[in-house]
Amino acid sequence: MIGSSVVLRTRSWIVLCVGFLTVGAPSAFATECPGHPDALGTSRTLVVDPREHPRIGTMQYRETLPLKDHEVVLTFDDGPLPKYSNQVLKILADECIKATFFIVGRQAKANPEGVRKLVAAGHTVGTHSMNHPLTFDRMPIDKAEAEVNGGIEWTTAAMSDSSELAPFFRIPGLMRAEGIENYLISRGIQVWSADFPADDWRHVSSDRVYQLAIQRLEAKGKGVLLLHDIQARTVAALPKIIRDLKARGYRIVHVVPATAERPATPTEPVEWLLHRPSESVPIARWPAVPNFVFAQVRTLPAPALADLNAQAAHQPLLPRRTRAEASVAATLAAPGRDLFAIPEGSLEVLLSTTASRRAATRLAAAATPHGSRGKAARMPGRSAGHATHAAPKHAAQANGTATRPTRLASLKKRTQ
Ligand SMILES: [Zn+2]
Repeated sequence: MIGSSVVLRTRSWIVLCVGFLTVGAPSAFATECPGHPDALGTSRTLVVDPREHPRIGTMQYRETLPLKDHEVVLTFDDGPLPKYSNQVLKILADECIKATFFIVGRQAKANPEGVRKLVAAGHTVGTHSMNHPLTFDRMPIDKAEAEVNGGIEWTTAAMSDSSELAPFFRIPGLMRAEGIENYLISRGIQVWSADFPADDWRHVSSDRVYQLAIQRLEAKGKGVLLLHDIQARTVAALPKIIRDLKARGYRIVHVVPATAERPATPTEPVEWLLHRPSESVPIARWPAVPNFVFAQVRTLPAPALADLNAQAAHQPLLPRRTRAEASVAATLAAPGRDLFAIPEGSLEVLLSTTASRRAATRLAAAATPHGSRGKAARMPGRSAGHATHAAPKHAAQANGTATRPTRLASLKKRTQ
């Protein structure tokens, strides 16, 4: 249960900002949610500068929003679609919750009033492309840019003031690609992934959406939740999610972009990581392969010689081996994605413990009168390849007298 001294219930981000800036006396600024004494409310507003942290969301990126434990940011994609978006708006209004909406340009074009309702309710409005193609990871960059710009154009067209649009963008289907991310970042637009979805776009029950939202949040302790305001199951699940968030002591954070008049909330770099790195297990966390989409393929910075405590003046005194290691470290790239792929036909190489056994079996079979020799002769490439990867002692057997006992034993067995 959350006491009123912890949770701030407010109606506008301005009040929230004032409350947040006077940390230490939050209860003094707490306001009720009119007509809804049990509302979850919005605990604080977080002002972010997209240029300082251009990619957020641990489903794909290293950084996420600098949330404290038990803080949640609600995000809704793909709207506005009046039938469901209006219900989502009502549920959020009844709880005095501020969220972030990622608008599809085509939807804004068809329903500009829906965009205006979001702005009027004080929610943050970002964009989500013009047509929501699920091919951002492979479409030509000029096409991807047109998708981004179309979404921005039609969303701002629905607003009375283009400054009401937040420079936040979520790639449809989270189909990220370096090219489009760089384009967005060059324009000062923050790329939003998420910390966990609730699978509300899949054919699951609303109860399942509720369960997934809570389970995944509990697993991480805080984060950005990805939902969709165009789904009936989301509308049905949302009240339960909000009730449970309150029961479990979670707090809602409203995120807005920094402007000239509204500076970013001061944060430390480490706060942009979901969990602070532990000094006891730093190696176990690297290299981290994201469990959703391979996110980071850029080369890691090579350690400088100075990092190895090898100052230039002392180099001649260093053991030769240390210098060689420094040289290698400077040229090694981060492991590429291809390294994790298993080339076709190379399973035997990976399973090296069984490879030698297979090579021996194959040699024995080749000596039998059942035609295996002929089969091997027809596939010289395969045969040679396997022999190459076999253990040395078996390679020797193939050429020397050591193969004879195997042949005899094999023949004996087969004639029994
Ligand atoms: Zn979407």
